[in-house]
Amino acid sequence: MMRRSLALLLSLALAFPARAAGLPDLGDVGAADFSPATERRIGEQIIQEIRTKDASYLDDPEIEEYVNRLGHKLAASSQNPQQDFDFFVVKDSTLNAFALPGGYIGVHTGLLLAAQSESELASVLGHEIAHVTQRHIAQLVGKQSQSGMLMLASLLVAVLAAKSNSQVSEAAIAAGQAGALQSQLGYTRDFEREADRVGLQTLESAGYDVRGMPSFFERLQRNGRLYENNAPAYLRTHPLTTERIADMENRATSMPYRQVPDSADFGYVRAKLRAQSGVPTDAVRELNSLVEQVPNDAAARYGLARALMRAGRLDEAGAEVERLRKTAEPSAFVEALAAEIAMARKDGARAVKVLEAARARFPAYSYLDYTLADARILAGRPADAAAGVKQALQNRGEDQRLWALLSRANADLGKRTAQHRAQAEVYALRGALPAAIEQLEIARKAADGDFYELSAVDARLRELKARWLEERRERQ
Ligand SMILES: [Zn+2]
Repeated sequence: MMRRSLALLLSLALAFPARAAGLPDLGDVGAADFSPATERRIGEQIIQEIRTKDASYLDDPEIEEYVNRLGHKLAASSQNPQQDFDFFVVKDSTLNAFALPGGYIGVHTGLLLAAQSESELASVLGHEIAHVTQRHIAQLVGKQSQSGMLMLASLLVAVLAAKSNSQVSEAAIAAGQAGALQSQLGYTRDFEREADRVGLQTLESAGYDVRGMPSFFERLQRNGRLYENNAPAYLRTHPLTTERIADMENRATSMPYRQVPDSADFGYVRAKLRAQSGVPTDAVRELNSLVEQVPNDAAARYGLARALMRAGRLDEAGAEVERLRKTAEPSAFVEALAAEIAMARKDGARAVKVLEAARARFPAYSYLDYTLADARILAGRPADAAAGVKQALQNRGEDQRLWALLSRANADLGKRTAQHRAQAEVYALRGALPAAIEQLEIARKAADGDFYELSAVDARLRELKARWLEERRERQ
């Protein structure tokens, strides 16, 4: 991951090893020079690298949307509800979550699977959100630009090193350095204590079970003791002490007890992760035995249906979904799966029907928009796909998945100007301005749009070229 920027930052990190030792103490530096806008921009660059180049980024909009729903609910109850947050998932079996600069929070799949309740998962997100709202990264970066860059470099290296299964060659080099850097990078004990305290408040005001926090952290610590040489990454990046857990327990017991049931989506997300991992036949076997143990567990059955679909056993997958529709609470997850099974059968018309009904019923689930556009394209209705996507774009203009679908729909319609214009937006949102400009130039040459469309292409081209010039000037 992060090949280009990593190489640059890594060389910076190695060029100033002496400065790494003298990290500023909490409180003795201001975060003023590292403004929230700068922090957000740096975070945005890192996340673009992760989304486009990192093989361990989990490109699953349905799961990403769930984590964002949970994260945003917590963020709305945090100390700074105005802060922008974006959550994403990393395919990594270690128990970890991390905050990048600017409110970008990554969650490992291992953590999603290890949490025994939604409140437990929320407690870790609450802790990470607190690192962001308390501006811990900015305080670590401090005033001096040189050591600031070094801190960022260390941060990137640590993120990279946290990936146990990274295959990028730089990772091997970085891993050696990261051990040294990471010990200096780690949040201080004071930061950790503050993140626990603030995170717990967030958890409480968002309506989760506050006791989820000490119980989960205690289990994390116990696991760390069991596998001493291979302690969960969370323990290394957020050093966990008995005092911290005792502190959390004390605070939690002084708060009113409340029993909070998990959302159905929490179960579906975990079942989907299980169904998608490993060899399909093994996943079928694992979920089958889970269904046998708890036949009324909708999430287990949903997982089994997904695993069967992966294994190409579409009839059985379809039968499990029909059973779910009759017995479980109506769910966007189940409807989306029903449509995906229909699409695997090349039955686009049936998938469109299921999804149009589901979209009306579950308007908050954007995943249905993507799947519906896919299904309409499959059903030979690209004009409907384009119309639906354009409507969704009115509220989510920065959603690159929607732009990619619009480009595909227009390609099917033979509208080349519109196709490349949409593709340009995909690249622009990924921060790849030269590629975006190239697409707009192709769009202009294709010239099969009307006067208004071509003027829009010209205007956008001027805008992106100006932005590209400005970026290049900034870098010099
Ligand atoms: Zn922490």
